[in-house]
Amino acid sequence: MEKEHLTFQTEAKQLLDLMIHSVYSNRDIFLRELISNASDALDKRRIELAANPDLEDQDPSEGLGAPEIRIDPDQKGRTLSVSDNGVGMNREELKEYIGTIAKSGTREYLEALKSSGGGVRAEALIGQFGVGFYSAFMVADRVDVVTRRLGEREGWKFSSSGDGTYTIEPAERRKPGTTVLLHLKGSDSSKGDREYTDEWTIREIVRKYSDFVTYPIVMAVKKTKEGKEEVADETLNSGKPIWRRSEKDVSEEEYNEFYKHISHDWEPPLLRVVFSVEGGTEFRGVLFVPSRAPFDLHFGMIPSGVNLYIRNVFIMNDCKELVPSWLRFLRGVVDSEDLPLNISREMLQEDPLLRIIRKGIVRRVLNALKKLMADDREKYLLFWKEFGAVLKEGLVSFDGSEGEHRDALLDLCLFSSTARPGKLISLKEYQEERKEGQEQIYYLTGRKEAALRTSPLLERCASGGENVLLLTDPVDEVLAPSLTTWGGMEFRSLERVDALPAGTEGKKNDQEQPEDTAAFLREVLKDVVKEVRFSDRLTTSPACLVNDREGGSMAMEQLLRSMGREVPAEKRILEINPASPLITALGQRLASAGKEERTKLEDYGWLLYYQSLLAGGGQIENPGEFARRVADLMTLGLKGRDVPEKE
Ligand code: ADP
Repeated sequence: MEKEHLTFQTEAKQLLDLMIHSVYSNRDIFLRELISNASDALDKRRIELAANPDLEDQDPSEGLGAPEIRIDPDQKGRTLSVSDNGVGMNREELKEYIGTIAKSGTREYLEALKSSGGGVRAEALIGQFGVGFYSAFMVADRVDVVTRRLGEREGWKFSSSGDGTYTIEPAERRKPGTTVLLHLKGSDSSKGDREYTDEWTIREIVRKYSDFVTYPIVMAVKKTKEGKEEVADETLNSGKPIWRRSEKDVSEEEYNEFYKHISHDWEPPLLRVVFSVEGGTEFRGVLFVPSRAPFDLHFGMIPSGVNLYIRNVFIMNDCKELVPSWLRFLRGVVDSEDLPLNISREMLQEDPLLRIIRKGIVRRVLNALKKLMADDREKYLLFWKEFGAVLKEGLVSFDGSEGEHRDALLDLCLFSSTARPGKLISLKEYQEERKEGQEQIYYLTGRKEAALRTSPLLERCASGGENVLLLTDPVDEVLAPSLTTWGGMEFRSLERVDALPAGTEGKKNDQEQPEDTAAFLREVLKDVVKEVRFSDRLTTSPACLVNDREGGSMAMEQLLRSMGREVPAEKRILEINPASPLITALGQRLASAGKEERTKLEDYGWLLYYQSLLAGGGQIENPGEFARRVADLMTLGLKGRDVPEKE
């Protein structure tokens, strides 16, 4: 096959440009990234060999060799190479993995980045897009990759100067694996540039960033042995897994570097959970909560970021079975002593040991979050802002763990509330600050907090002094029906007809109850409301709509519609406020109206219904009709009349 000349995909080219021109505070990280990629390739080799042991013998004269990462500096030629005998890449994979970026939302994100102006940090690009390989172009003016895919015979050479184009051509390679060869840029030590072919520079960088990599990182170094100088391989990393060391012996910096290695994040993590469980089922691990949600966390189901090891051997990354989907923001490693090494994903789903490990992990993570909430509220707020909506999914998860962690999760939830604008409170704080004798936790769901704050449904609580939680995350709609009790208190949606604050039940408005008006409205609105009754909850608004069943909130209806579902408008109960001047005036009018005038007053009935619907956050199904009725009444008002003239 001939040499092919290709161009990077547009987004990839933009990222590469940004990387080359980025404000890099630290160029050393290119080596960390290349070692990381080599280590990942060796992980993949293990997975493929486990699934297909024949691959091992594909080239019996050579064998695959023990897994190894090799660094080879050439001072004279000013090159540096990083090689591995991992899974390698074929021609298509080179194009796909190196020439394109397949992350959803990349284009939008790049647009935003460009329009925001200012410099971009290389670390941020690597973190957001997983383009560690591109960091090689920070130190090299040409990068060659010679690689051969495990299980295939042909080798390939990729070459690029980072100018938006690259070439691919067939190449010789004896064994599967990859060599990344960097043709280093000139270094200017007066500018603080480091010489990356220098043995001690390489040693230092490897120790600092990659010490915990579980495969040996080898370099041939000159040594003097018995007076004679000789060249011998030396392993530069200790390779001791960080999760097998006692937490007190590992520095913050080491943990952070490990986190960056596994997550490709550039910011230190927000929280670390380290555990070592012995006696019974044995497992240990290090898990991290990132400081920031990846920009595609809500785009869909991103895989879990937890890697499974068994007795120190890498088994799989993104092990969904280890943590529930509502903890999918976690990154880290879990190492089990007891699972069999040849376990497959399918077997994992069924394995009772894994279920025990998973439970143990969830409990430890929830405890760590609880502690963070108690010890450092400010940091917890950062966590909640990034991941609260995901964590709440745990209250309604469909992965078989429903309800299992309900109370622990509810303890961790924070809410907006009517009494504490601008502040988020926990249920415990709600309870501590509740009105004496209050036995319910009142809440209202909707899309916008500002809109909820003006809802007529809040009136009685506002005048009675009860605090009301305002739930505005889309997931709140789904979980609201499952909110039953917490801390001996009962959850009550104010949209429910029976949600009245304690102490006000039975206490009707002193006002006379104009039965006639209710009967009139009942007749006019019989197709859209279930019932018309007098309200105990309103103090100023003339009317509101409430529900007599679980779920079925107005916001839920909207949510389902926005997802393209056909949702019939739910028939609600119209509550009217006899103390409202509007209701009084309507009553007086009805009392003296003849048959014809009563018909004309129907417009008022409809408008009362429509405005209750709007105030409750609902949507009018037939806005044209609403507009016509409003226009008719406005015309009359402007003419100084209140009902139409007789025709
Ligand atoms: P990331 O490693 O975050 O996915 P990179 O830009 O560093 O992003 O690499 C892109 C992809 O190229 C990797 O996901 C991997 O599939 C492939 N790749 C990079 N280096 C190697 C390697 N040494 N061996 C095999 N595949 C590699």
